[in-house]
Amino acid sequence: SVVIPFHNEQLSTLLRTLTSVVKRSPSALLKEVILVDDCSTLDCSREELEKALWQWGGLVRVVRTTQREGSTKARVIGASYATQDVISYLDSHVEVNQRWLEPIVSHINTNNKAIVMSTLDTITTEKFELQGAGWGFHGGFNWNLEFYWKGLPDRILNKLQRTYDPVPSPIMPAGAFALHREFYMWLGLLDPDMKIWGVDDVEFSFRAWQCGASVEIHPCSHVGHIFRPHIPYTFGNDTSQRVVFHNSVRTAEVVLEHYKKFFYAQANHHKVDVNMTSLRARRQLKSDNNCHDFSWFMQNVIPEMPLPPQDAVHYEHIMPKETKDNCIDVDQTD
Ligand code: UDP
Ligand code: MN
Repeated sequence: SVVIPFHNEQLSTLLRTLTSVVKRSPSALLKEVILVDDCSTLDCSREELEKALWQWGGLVRVVRTTQREGSTKARVIGASYATQDVISYLDSHVEVNQRWLEPIVSHINTNNKAIVMSTLDTITTEKFELQGAGWGFHGGFNWNLEFYWKGLPDRILNKLQRTYDPVPSPIMPAGAFALHREFYMWLGLLDPDMKIWGVDDVEFSFRAWQCGASVEIHPCSHVGHIFRPHIPYTFGNDTSQRVVFHNSVRTAEVVLEHYKKFFYAQANHHKVDVNMTSLRARRQLKSDNNCHDFSWFMQNVIPEMPLPPQDAVHYEHIMPKETKDNCIDVDQTD
């Protein structure tokens, strides 16, 4: 089941996504495509989209939310309609490449706890051309809970037998990944109480590893994605900073345990309302599933990342350029 959430996606890019999925997936593997229209307000394209879907005779269908749910909840809603063993999530402005699906399904077939991300190529925003991503990177995070690409450490390079082996990734972005549906349900899905956009994928990656998954990037499966220079939609009645902070707080509270102080020490704080009842339920789920704690994650999934000393009040990497005209000194007043 391919699940694609969208909010105000242009018809041309949405059709590029769908056409590539239908044409480049073997019919034995592709059973349904579920579009989740997250309360788009671009009504002009609605009829044209429905007309375009006829050509695929029921393979692609649209479910519509009645209020703006945000990308995470839209993904979760899409999963509730999925009927097949494997769910594959895609953004609505991608182009899947030849044989994008076979390696993913095959890998999940051998390990039903694998969460497999496709290699994300770039579709340029100027000419809409495909630019291949290089090999040798995977996802890390900083204490502000932001994702970033980092070079593969030796411990992984030494273990990989072939350049086409899936590469373990501590964190993965949510644009194109697949996993076993039942395992996904058991994990507790993406956190449905995340707002509009952001950090849901970081939270899910942490939690998935802690609960026995292995998050991997498959070098043989390629999906081109339009990385937009800025977010083109509104954040409801809220600001993007507040929404992202809200989602980061949920992440810190569910996965970081006593490491959360490193997040709070450096984050730009905003006044946000976090639903404590649902947070407690998310923590409870992790303990019911006997998931590892966050120290385990640091030691086993990303051991090359230096651990902040436990008595540190603040922890950050200082870049040389920031210190050029300043001196750093130890405050000895207390
Ligand atoms: N999306 C959605 N509802 C929203 C925001 C985003 O359904 O409120 C969809 C969006 O159309 C896209 C996916 O969620 O298909 C991921 O969002 P986006 O591509 O903006 O995230 P990015 O790739 O920039 O991280
Ligand atoms: Mn996207």
